[in-house]
Parts: sequence; C-alpha cells; structure tokens
Amino acid sequence: MGYMPHLKIYTTNFCSYCDRAKAILKSKGITDYEEMNIAGREGMREEIARLTGGRWDVPQVFIDGAYIGDDDALADLAHSGELERMFGMNENSSGNGKGNVDRRDVLIIGSGPAGLAAALYAARAQLNTLVLTGKEIGGQLSLTLDIENYPGFKDGHAGNLIQDMQEQAKRFGAAIEMGYVTEVDFSQRPFRIKTYGSEIEAQSVIVATGSSPRKLEIPGELDYVGRGVSYCATCDGFFFKDKEVVVVGGGDAAVEEGLFLTRFAKTVTIIHRRDRLRANPSIQARALDNPKMKFLWDTVVTAVLGNDKGAYGVRLKDVKTGAEREFKTDGVFIFVGHLPNTTLFEGKLQMDDKGYLIADKRQHTDVEGVFAAGDVQDHVYRQAITAAGTGAAAAIEAERFLAEMAGKAQPAAV
Ligand SMILES: Cc1cc2nc3c(=O)[nH]c(=O)nc-3n(C[C@H](O)[C@H](O)[C@H](O)COP(=O)(O)OP(=O)(O)OC[C@H]3O[C@@H](n4cnc5c(N)ncnc54)[C@H](O)[C@@H]3O)c2cc1C
Repeated sequence: MGYMPHLKIYTTNFCSYCDRAKAILKSKGITDYEEMNIAGREGMREEIARLTGGRWDVPQVFIDGAYIGDDDALADLAHSGELERMFGMNENSSGNGKGNVDRRDVLIIGSGPAGLAAALYAARAQLNTLVLTGKEIGGQLSLTLDIENYPGFKDGHAGNLIQDMQEQAKRFGAAIEMGYVTEVDFSQRPFRIKTYGSEIEAQSVIVATGSSPRKLEIPGELDYVGRGVSYCATCDGFFFKDKEVVVVGGGDAAVEEGLFLTRFAKTVTIIHRRDRLRANPSIQARALDNPKMKFLWDTVVTAVLGNDKGAYGVRLKDVKTGAEREFKTDGVFIFVGHLPNTTLFEGKLQMDDKGYLIADKRQHTDVEGVFAAGDVQDHVYRQAITAAGTGAAAAIEAERFLAEMAGKAQPAAV
C-alpha cells in the first residue's frame, strides 16, 4: 500500500457539521484518521485559533499538518476529486460513474426529508434511483437535535430521523451518493446533469434542494463567521459556555435555537425588529419564562464588531427613534429566515419573485419530467413533514410520467 496522508479532524459532541465532515470521509472510504474531540478540554479554542489563523469553531480538518478548513472546505475537496487524489484512490471509487455517463430513471437532487422520501417511493417502485446529497448530507434537519413535531415519534424526539430515512431508502435499492450539481440541461430528455467530475443522464428529475440560512448582509457579518458569528446553535453553542450571546430574529427558529443556547450561555438576548415575537405561542411561553433569556424589542443589528480575536459586539439601531449604540456580546447567532437554493435553475425552471420554484399541486414544474419537492418550492410551511409529503408525491408523479413515456399502463398509486 502506498503513502497514506495523516488526516486530523477537530470535533465536538452534538455537532452536526462535525458529523457531516465525518460522513464525507466515510463516503470516500477514509476511516483511518485522527479525531480530536475537544469537548471538556481546556485551551482548545486557543489551539484551534492558532492552527487555523483565527477561527475557533469545529470541525477543522488538517491533512499532513496543512490546514484544509471546515466541513465546507472538505466537501469542496471531496466534490472536486482532490481528496481521492490526495489519498491515492481510484477516481471511480465514489461509484458515481466518474468519466462515464451514469444513467438513471430518477435523479433526486438533495438529501433532506423531501429528497429521501422521494428516494424511498421511487426505489420502492423499482425505479433506478440516485440521490445526490449536496454539501449538506441530510439537509437542514442535520443542523438540529430536537425534532419534536415529526409524526410517529410518541416521545417527541426524532433524533435519528434522517439516518433512518436514508437506510430505509437504501433498503429498497436507492443509491445515495455525495455529489453537488453544478449544471443542469433540461432542454431535452434524457436530462443531463453535471456534478464536479461526473455526468448523469436521467429520464426524470426531482429537485429537492431546500433552502439555506439568509444572511443579514451587514458589515462584519461574514468576516466573523466561525469567530463569533453562527447560523447554527446546535453546532456552535458549545463554544459559548458561560458567555453572553445574542440571537437575531423573532420567529420559531430564532426562539427555539435561543432556548437551546441557554443550555450553555450565561444569557441569551433576542434582538427583534418588532415589539413582539412571531414564534408560535408555546415556544414563546418557554422563552419568556426562561430566566436566561432577555429581549431587545424594536431593534435591528446594523454591524458586527470585532477584532483579531473575533466578534466582540454588535451595533444596534432602535427602529422607532433611529438611535444607534454598541452592544457587547461574545456571540451572534443569526436566524432571519431562509433563501431557496435555486440559482442553478435560473432560466431553466419557472420561479416566483422570491426565487422559489413553481410547482403545481402534483409537484410538476413547467418542464415535463422535472418535479420539485420540499422547501425549494414552499415558502409557507417549511416543515420536515410537508417536505417529506411533497417528496413522496413527486416520486409518485415521476413514476407515472415514466410509465406514460414508456407507453405502459399507468401504475396504481403505491
Ligand atoms: C435549525 C433548524 C431546525 C429545524 N427544526 C425543525 C423541526 O423541529 N421540525 C420540522 O418539521 N422542521 C424543522 N426545520 C425545517 C426543516 O428542516 C425543513 O423544512 C426541511 O429540512 C426541508 O426539507 P427539504 O428536503 O426540502 O430541504 P433541505 O433539508 O434544505 O435539504 C436540501 C438538500 O439539498 C441539497 N442541495 C442543495 N443544493 C444542491 C446541489 N446543487 N446539488 C446537490 N444537492 C444540493 C442539500 O445538500 C440538502 O441535502 C428546521 C430547520 C432548521 C434550519
């Protein structure tokens, strides 16, 4: 066996981005690496900052001592084929037909609840089905620990939901592979889809690319991501033990994530541009009763303030008086909504003025044979159960479409 590089990864407990990084390694067959779990270890924040040139979030990956970056950087390395090259692997080892065209009945873009439910239905209908996971294996749910409202879990905790959905779809024959779609050609069938380094021909496509956190787009925000600014409490809350943090936003996600942060932080101040929360009443009641939670109403954040050690505060503006002031904080958690992941489909599929794909009640887009499911076509409900429901519907429609195209009798609903 040839030379094997030494890969070291810094992780912590309850860290979905760490799980994602480890899943990327596993999907590439890299199992022999050093994991440094920093939970409970003194001085780790300083060590990571020294090694990364200032970041102190995890995961952080190093290969032969060289700094690679976080899970996004690792995903880019994996998608480009560079990771396999570094580890001296056969470029075809990912199994996604690199160099050859991979032919499928159904290609599903996205591995959140919509994509995985679609995979289960399509595979169970004996269709040759491939799911491309994208960078977020498991989608947005992989960012949270508490899923209390998915039916079928009587104790209210659906912690392994995504892993179980993956296994269930695989059991019926669906292939699930890491792959990030970079280009689609829906002008003729079979549709042609490109990822970094591979090409797929698909008779039908289900788009389930979901959505991503909206940025505040204020000075300092992106400069301090991983150094005090975060979009994921379950991933980064651990770093704010006994610290004072702010949460920007007033909806369900903001308040729920704020409540989660009270497990670690000394105080959690919700900053909201209105004079009351938008979150549902039961979540609001829990937040208003929690002694660690504080509220700044009618206030917006206009800048994140920081220095070479990371973020140390925010600039606030009172929306009623216009008065501005600085507010000291150790961490800034931002939950101000989501944007659909649809850039890839601009000019190819019909969208509304907010960029959501337009699908009819049977999940058909304006291109015959291309279906849309989940948050990418839903700015109203945006729930795991509704995403899974539309994923199942899209797969049933894809199956009918393929049967019609093949001149077969229309199959009965499964
Ligand atoms: C912190 C948090 C907590 C939440 N808690 C709950 C909850 O308790 N209950 C609930 O019902 N809902 C909850 N939600 C909402 C729920 O997660 C979403 O409604 C649901 O995940 C949407 O599913 P989806 O499959 O449509 O998209 P997503 O889950 O967003 O998945 C999108 C998928 O598309 C992939 N993708 C994107 N672009 C590409 C590309 N170019 N190529 C390949 N793949 C691509 C991504 O990698 C990802 O796998 C929560 C959301 C967040 C952020």
